[in-house]
Amino acid sequence: MSKKKAEPAGELALIQQIRSTFPAGRSTAVTLGIGDDCAILRPPGGQEVVVTTDFTLENRHFRRDLHPASSVGHRCLARGLSDIASMGAKPLAAFLSIALPGTMLTTARGRQWMAEFFAGMRSLARRHNTPLAGGDTSQSPGDLILADIILIGAAPTGRSLRRSGARAGDLLYVTGSLGGAHAELTALKTKRRSQARGSEVHPHLFPQPRLSVGAYLLHHRLATAAIDLSDGLSTDLTHLCESSRVRAEVDAAALPLHPLTSRLDPQQAMHAALNGGEDYELLFAADPGTPIPRRIAGVPITSIGTLLPRNARKPLLTLRTADGSSAPLRAAGWEHFVS
Ligand SMILES: [Mg+2]
Repeated sequence: MSKKKAEPAGELALIQQIRSTFPAGRSTAVTLGIGDDCAILRPPGGQEVVVTTDFTLENRHFRRDLHPASSVGHRCLARGLSDIASMGAKPLAAFLSIALPGTMLTTARGRQWMAEFFAGMRSLARRHNTPLAGGDTSQSPGDLILADIILIGAAPTGRSLRRSGARAGDLLYVTGSLGGAHAELTALKTKRRSQARGSEVHPHLFPQPRLSVGAYLLHHRLATAAIDLSDGLSTDLTHLCESSRVRAEVDAAALPLHPLTSRLDPQQAMHAALNGGEDYELLFAADPGTPIPRRIAGVPITSIGTLLPRNARKPLLTLRTADGSSAPLRAAGWEHFVS
């Protein structure tokens, strides 16, 4: 069966575009970057390597009519960086494989989209010192943009934060605020685009991975377990509880709601915070005797609940409300777009 490839000229131009957008920096970890059969990485001495991979699929994770290309590039990298942050690790390098419809290489509009995609990715990559050290390009078999990003990070050997280290009695904390990504996406879908600029008001389009917080937690040995909030608090807390063999009680009144959720009714705002997903904040557990700063690297830290011993007769997650009642909280995280 013959393989239909992108126009060589178009593909070569794309590779050239990637190389000029992401010039080899002064990273000490990347011994050899784009341009050979493999990249060569050298993690710092005494560190172990952490690896994560994330798809970014058109109509599943983004829509070309809703998301500016710069946001798609930013979010593609942010998803991987957020996983690195949750381990307390520092990023060493990113690798991007991308499949594109032929029109993205042959039309001015397509080339413009790609330039903005790479600019969005580059801006976040620079902020977090993450060189693009390789990848692959191909023509998409359909009309969809499909990308897969791999992030390589490093953390002191044996000390990466995991989901599995929490104990009954630990307190639960989140960084930043919750529900903003869902609230902004709701506004985008109903064409109520925010006029304001800046990352603080674009928690969906330009989420900020909490690398400094993760690294601080690891360095100061503050957290017993951590996970990033990609799928939503209810789902990601379920993962943490299952891995650590504990259950959790969450205090609804303590949840730090993002200001954008004030556009929603109270019930929707709570849904956005618990299940909205894609906030890319960190959820972590810490021993109650460990003092946790109110802010780390400028990011507010909020205590939202407690971990308790597993009990077969009690739900894995419980939500305590302001009136003192409590109800089971089911994992009902974001399922992305359904095409
Ligand atoms: Mg994750």
